[in-house]
Amino acid sequence: MISTLKGSILLENGTIYDPCNNKIIKGAILLQNGIIKEVGKFTPPKNVKRINCQGKIVAPGLIDIHAHFREPGREDKETLATGALAAFSGGFTRVCVMPNTNPPLDSPESIRFILEKAADLPIHIFPIGAITQRQEGLELTEIGEMVQAGAVAISDDGLPVQNGQVMRYAVEYAQKFKIPVINHAEDTYLSNGGVMNESALSTQFGLPGNPDISESVMVHRDLEIAEFTNGRIHIPHVSTARSVHLIRQYKKKGLNITAEVTPHHLGLSENTLSQFDTNAKVAPPLRTDKDRKALIDGLMDGTIDCIATDHAPHTIEEKEMDFIHAPCGMIGLESAFGLAHTVLVEAGAKTEQVIQWMTDGAARVMGWELNPFGIGCPAEISIIDPKEKWQFTESHIQSRSRNSPMVGMAFKGRVVSTISGKYFFGKQLD
Ligand SMILES: [Zn+2]
Repeated sequence: MISTLKGSILLENGTIYDPCNNKIIKGAILLQNGIIKEVGKFTPPKNVKRINCQGKIVAPGLIDIHAHFREPGREDKETLATGALAAFSGGFTRVCVMPNTNPPLDSPESIRFILEKAADLPIHIFPIGAITQRQEGLELTEIGEMVQAGAVAISDDGLPVQNGQVMRYAVEYAQKFKIPVINHAEDTYLSNGGVMNESALSTQFGLPGNPDISESVMVHRDLEIAEFTNGRIHIPHVSTARSVHLIRQYKKKGLNITAEVTPHHLGLSENTLSQFDTNAKVAPPLRTDKDRKALIDGLMDGTIDCIATDHAPHTIEEKEMDFIHAPCGMIGLESAFGLAHTVLVEAGAKTEQVIQWMTDGAARVMGWELNPFGIGCPAEISIIDPKEKWQFTESHIQSRSRNSPMVGMAFKGRVVSTISGKYFFGKQLD
């Protein structure tokens, strides 16, 4: 549960990890009413409340650059407040919210609405503005005014920008404001109503398949546009080996491009699907094990820059529809670290590296310079137990929605507490 940190708090005996400089800081951290006062070796004041972080890694708060909080319009699925709580419980202190709300965030007023509503929440929320008016893919939004109002990127996520000319203009305009353009890469003519990955399995299930090229064809187009305009694009939720291959080739040319992968595409494949579990229906779909391994390799060699959840809440009623009609998406903030850490450590990554992909790597995509553990800064801290084995259950879900195929999965590694300014989530405080 959330509690408030008052007075002096000492985070001691932990391994303090700074992913931005890839270094371990020896000592402790002193907080005073949620502000960082001392880091390293110092003499703590008397009457300090001590949090024993023995065996834990004290890291910056996690950052998710891709989440759907459904406000305004579908507050029955998630609000900024419930989404913030879901994030906070999962270790996140910063979340970028996608603009495919109802109405979409396609104006400076709508960006201001989010920031005003989010001002008192325990975590920092950063709105992403739409690329096109009403997300119709035709006319560009007032990008400059949205950025001035506080938009940190533009995206029509949920919907791809099908028109290449519109995408080109978006990338050209966005360059002036030094923000990334994030296009949901999907050629909808090629995906053709497919509800799962196109493969022998989709044939066996008798479900319409979405081929991997529906993503890579669009990724290729966007990479070409980025090269041609010398622009800044970020590719969300990469799901296929083909896309990883293309991004790797274009990165070698030195372009200003970045990419993200979700915990579920790293950890689940079409083989974990049953035609009845609509909670595993997601866009882009869970792909083959070969794709999954290519995504892991992509992270390991720097082709993919960070991990982002694509947290997408839906009501039980909607997810109770049959596989063809149920909406795409799953929640992911509460399970993100556990799933990503379990899969990546098993693949040979170090816990510190996983932390880097979920903090510094994400911040760099947004052009943020983090100052982890900066003296005088409000605390943004996650306390991580890399060894804890736990089972993810419904009781861990703080989101207003419940659509997670991860329920029941066993994880290794967990964020045990999160601190954001004066707010604390976790069980370590007694
Ligand atoms: Zn998307």
